[in-house]
Amino acid sequence: SVSIVWFRNDLRLSDNPALVESLRAGLPVVPVFVLDDQTEGVRPLGGASRWWLHHSLSSLDASLRKLGSRLTLRRGPAERVLPELAAECGAEAIFWNRVYDEGSRNRDARLKKSLNERGLRAESFKANLLFEPWEIKNQSGAPFKVFTPFWRVCRAHASPGDPLPAPKALPAPKTGPASDALDDWRLLPTNPDWAGGLRTAWSPGEKGAKDRLSHFLDEALEDYRHARDLPAVEGTSRLSPNLAFGEISPRQVWRAATNRGASAAAEKFLSEVGWREFAYSLLFHNGDLAQRNFRPEFDAFPWADSDEILEAWRRGRTGYPIVDAGMRELWTTGWMHNRVRMIVASFLTKDLLIDWRQGERWFWDTLVDADPANNVTGWQWVAGCGADAAPYFRVFNPVLQGAKFDPKGEYVRRWVPELAGLPDAVIHSPWSASKPPAASVYPERIVEHGAARDRALAAFQSLKKSA
Ligand code: FAD
Repeated sequence: SVSIVWFRNDLRLSDNPALVESLRAGLPVVPVFVLDDQTEGVRPLGGASRWWLHHSLSSLDASLRKLGSRLTLRRGPAERVLPELAAECGAEAIFWNRVYDEGSRNRDARLKKSLNERGLRAESFKANLLFEPWEIKNQSGAPFKVFTPFWRVCRAHASPGDPLPAPKALPAPKTGPASDALDDWRLLPTNPDWAGGLRTAWSPGEKGAKDRLSHFLDEALEDYRHARDLPAVEGTSRLSPNLAFGEISPRQVWRAATNRGASAAAEKFLSEVGWREFAYSLLFHNGDLAQRNFRPEFDAFPWADSDEILEAWRRGRTGYPIVDAGMRELWTTGWMHNRVRMIVASFLTKDLLIDWRQGERWFWDTLVDADPANNVTGWQWVAGCGADAAPYFRVFNPVLQGAKFDPKGEYVRRWVPELAGLPDAVIHSPWSASKPPAASVYPERIVEHGAARDRALAAFQSLKKSA
């Protein structure tokens, strides 16, 4: 008999409580990953995430092989696949680490019950958050709707403890179960292969994640408070895809940052990891957050509907250099700087009046760090309909934002090379250049920001009147 450890978004060997518990059971261990794109309510991964998943699984399998084990791959609804696998290899127990989106949680609860009914031990663990969403509550016992007091309570909470070491060896059954071939899952794009920029930018897997964390702590933490807002420099950790796939745990990030000693920079960095905790708390307490406005008064918002305009935004052809640079960075690398995410999201929802859910979906498909909690929280925050959101009337001015956070236009020149020859003074407003680029070279502005802002504020006013 064996114990099964079911990997999900915890694709690492270190600080992995389910794996440690599986070893403790004293039986041969069968590590498995199930590609479950069939269970209703579980959101299928987007294209960029599928690319990342392929490489991350391949890296996890290589690490398991070094311990004398290997990863078994199965595809189908987890509720069918796992009991079948358990029967096939005579499993006594199954262990996994918790995930927090509603569809997966419901599935896991049903699965646990059915495994228990078959006489199997099934246990889940906290591994992907510092604090369970139900642990952090306000004085009246309700979940927080505002970040600052939420994070204050988190900081006052008992420390999340020390990360668990990776096992040195993993006992394997004499004949392991059959596995799908990773290539047969076709997670990688082929025709066309759009992943060239992703391959250049990233090295998925646990080792890549650890290297990235040390690099950030050595090179960028000190200046984080200032540089984190400048998209042209590598001022942030870029750990978001590693955290999304669980190649590193937030506890490992927390421990490594606090081990460097207390500093305002480390505190700021931890508070960003805190935003991730807050987003998960919101998602846990509001299962349909990706579909529903957190503030219901926005349900009557008069969103515009234009495929052409949406497509210009997606492709980085709006005529606003900072917006276009961000959208092209996203398309090419699967990642976008946080400051620019806010600018492009404000532009879509306010200047173009397009429903934030359209933007959320595009990000879900194209981001390597697409995250069920962070993405929807980010979008609702910018659109003004979220918890602790920016007020709706705060409309980012793409020209001023560009001038402030990319003053020399380095970021724009990198991603919108057709504007590279413009002087700094007009790099964020090419239409005001003495010789503006021809429309065949770079598109004219899709809207005029001043007028678009007035239109957005009028739409918001109409909402207030009808409420
Ligand atoms: P760092 O500054 O190094 O921060 C460290 C970690 O803290 C990040 O890796 C991330 O896990 C967490 N974090 C940082 N900022 C935030 C934040 N505002 N909200 C929640 N967690 C945060 N983040 C995602 O991980 N996945 C998404 O799908 C996602 N979609 C977003 C959509 C919009 C419209 C906006 C405005 C933000 C979104 N974010 C998302 C949050 C943020 O932009 C990214 O987490 C950040 O840019 C990742 O870069 P980093 O790892 O270098 O961040």
